[in-house]
Parts: sequence; C-alpha cells; structure tokens
Amino acid sequence: MPARPVAKALPKRRGLFEGFKGNIAAISLGVKYLIDPKRFTLIYPNEYIKLDPGYRGFIVLEKKKCINCSSCARICPAAAMKMIKLPEPDPRHPGKTKIKLWPVINYQRCIFCGYCVDVCPTEALYHVPYHDIVYENLAEMDWDLETFTKPPDYPTASEGMPVKYIVDEERGLVKVKAQEGEQ
Ligand code: SF4
Ligand code: SF4
Repeated sequence: MPARPVAKALPKRRGLFEGFKGNIAAISLGVKYLIDPKRFTLIYPNEYIKLDPGYRGFIVLEKKKCINCSSCARICPAAAMKMIKLPEPDPRHPGKTKIKLWPVINYQRCIFCGYCVDVCPTEALYHVPYHDIVYENLAEMDWDLETFTKPPDYPTASEGMPVKYIVDEERGLVKVKAQEGEQ
C-alpha cells in the first residue's frame, strides 16, 4: 500500500516585535564590532594578509625555462591561459624569423587553481603569495608576455601592515599583527 501523504504544518509567522528584536540584535552586534579594537575587519589597503609560502597566488613565467609545449594552456579549466604566436630570429636561417608560441594569462578568467603550475614539465611557472592586486581597468588584467615574466607590482605589501588571522577559543577569528619573517 502506498504511503499516505502527511500534511506538514506551516511554520508559525513571527510577530512584528520578534522581527524588530532580531534587527536590534543584529545592529548592536555590528556596533560592538565597530568599536571593538580587536575586530577582524581588514583595513585595506593599510593592512594586508600575510600569506604563507606555497599559497596559490599570482603566477609568474620564467621564460628561459619554458619549452613552449602548451600544456599549461591545454589544461587550464577557465580558458585563462592561452598561447600567443610571436616572431623571433631563426638561428638556422640567418636573416629570417620563425614563429614561437608563448603562454600568457588573463586574470579576468583565472580561478587560481594552480593546474598550469602543476602540469608544467620544466617548472617554468611559479606562484607568488599575492592575491589582491588592484587594477584600474579590465584590460590591465589581460597580461602580455612581458608582464607575465616578472612578479607583479604589489604596493600594499610594501606599504601596508602585514596581519594574520588566528582562532581564539573565546572570540573566534581574531586579527593580529604578523611579525617579520613569521609564517
Ligand atoms: S591557475 Fe588555473 S585558471 Fe589560472 S591560468 Fe592556471 S590553470 Fe588556468
Ligand atoms: S607548460 Fe611550462 S613549458 Fe609548457 S608552455 Fe606552459 S610554461 Fe612553457
């Protein structure tokens, strides 16, 4: 015999006072953290999060190690890495040029998965521990080969204060100043 459907009771509607009480509680919590000197809001760009070595941040190409195999572009799940054709002098035919493929990256699309770094057979790609670079427009996020071959400018890292987050048993997440050389 098929199971009989059971009518579920609708949840009770909360009164106007209950809603008002909830709003007051939320506002007082916000005010508490606003005046709390130990709040964990990051004061960007005066502070930046000190990331650990091995963090999958921006990617740099070490051009002399690259063998132009295209593996990085093929594996990229976000179509952020692509190969571009650039002419260069052909040593076997003096006076002539040949076309070579080089990887470039579009940070409008990159999801920082690190697959391209992992798959590279010559370790020509490496991560730098930066994650919050400010661009003035979208076109700047589409890097050319020259930009891709040097670590990105990171003004916050040199001008702001490094901080890190720790878990405190009583307060939960707490922001503290990161010491020099600390990991
Ligand atoms: S990190 Fe991931 S998404 Fe970004 S370029 Fe590499 S493979 Fe593509
Ligand atoms: S996988 Fe490595 S060697 Fe191959 S094209 Fe990309 S960066 Fe160059």
